[in-house]
Amino acid sequence: MDEEHVKPIRLKALVDKEREKVIFAEPSVEFIDVLFSFLTMPMGTIIRLILNRPPTMGIGCMNNLYECIENLDVQLFRTEECKKMLLYPRNAAADQCRRLKLNIDETEPLRYFLGERSDCPHLSHYRDVICPCGECINMKMFLPEKTYFAQDRGVFVKKITRLMISDELRVMPPSTEESLSLLSNLGLTDGSTTEERNLDIGVDEVLTLLKMSLVSKTALTGTFLKCSPTPELDQMFFDIGKYIKSGMEELTSDVSEKPITIKLTVCKSKKMVGYAETSGDFVDLLFSFLTVPLGYAVEEMHTDTWKGCINHLYNSIRELDAEQYLKSNEHKAMLLSPQLAPSFGYENHPLGIEEDKHPPYYYVYADDKLISDETLLPSGEDEYLALTVLDPNSSSEDTRGFVKRAEKFMVTDNLKITPASSISGLSNLTKHNVDWSDIEVRTVHVGHKEALRLLVASLVSKSALTVAFLGEPNSEQSE
Ligand SMILES: [Zn+2]
Repeated sequence: MDEEHVKPIRLKALVDKEREKVIFAEPSVEFIDVLFSFLTMPMGTIIRLILNRPPTMGIGCMNNLYECIENLDVQLFRTEECKKMLLYPRNAAADQCRRLKLNIDETEPLRYFLGERSDCPHLSHYRDVICPCGECINMKMFLPEKTYFAQDRGVFVKKITRLMISDELRVMPPSTEESLSLLSNLGLTDGSTTEERNLDIGVDEVLTLLKMSLVSKTALTGTFLKCSPTPELDQMFFDIGKYIKSGMEELTSDVSEKPITIKLTVCKSKKMVGYAETSGDFVDLLFSFLTVPLGYAVEEMHTDTWKGCINHLYNSIRELDAEQYLKSNEHKAMLLSPQLAPSFGYENHPLGIEEDKHPPYYYVYADDKLISDETLLPSGEDEYLALTVLDPNSSSEDTRGFVKRAEKFMVTDNLKITPASSISGLSNLTKHNVDWSDIEVRTVHVGHKEALRLLVASLVSKSALTVAFLGEPNSEQSE
């Protein structure tokens, strides 16, 4: 990003001076758009951006998943591109996010490559991919960017929108009633301890705010007033246990699904999963969590019990009248039910999340040009070639996916993934002082519901397998 041209966004906030706490703020349209865009970002992008940012606490097991992909031998993936796709997942709303006043996602724009033969109808976003005609695709093309009209300023919200936002990221139309209730919740009865402050927001603050929205209940205070939050960890784990258990009885797998089978090594007395032995299909599911947009994961949480507050933002958008505040119902859906970017899905994905479609691409012979806009096509049908996008995760096997399905893997409770090894599996149990006689191997089927539970567990707990399959947190809570 060109820092010199990025002016900070200004936020007018009402602050409780004594407690150094933001009570609420009146954000500009630019700020609301940046905040809303968090929901469209794939988890992998979020982890990459905030991994080393204070406060030093992880987002469940997502950090481990991301680091495993970095460390795993590229030979275990179907293609080199599969590894890149997971480390730099695409945002299906990237076109919108590129127009944000502050765009923190530094994923490079899509690139376009064609084969050298003029009749090869294949397009790839990655260089040196072999297409089905047997050709190496390496001719770089340029796609003219979509132009937007100058008056079309807001990205997700309408240009003239006025909203207020609370410290815990509840966004609502401004009203005296709401302001007073936020004040009285803090026990403030007059203006003697409050003051108005102007807060400047640059890229750095946006990144901190993103992290705060996932790990703190007081996101604005944590970002702007520099007092670090102290999440109540014990409370958090207790709540997760309760939440997960309540949904346990509903878990019956649909017969039409093709569930994934995994083997859990369980320590019976401690009621914890030591590790799982799996093939590539389960690892594909876990890795796909990084390609899932935050909004999708929050939608599936149905819970108010975790340490972050992004769920308040999500619920606020759901309650906002699209007609009045948002650019359209499509924009609302982009935030509340965000899809996977094109190419990032695969057949029988246990999450059942929808995948966005590639736009149409055409090669125009006369101009030697790549276009995506059907209205610019020449009239004669032999003057252009309709192109098919090659999915980098589809080569060499019948179905799409990221890792080689036939490989065997070991997955620890906190989702560290390595090639299968009985020795390291058992030494993992030794670390937890598990008696061999206390071990039981259970076969578990993972269908749609189990996949959703696992997604939620991997966001909120460091014992994802135990929480998802045994229904309670690991009593040790070790890292
Ligand atoms: Zn081809």
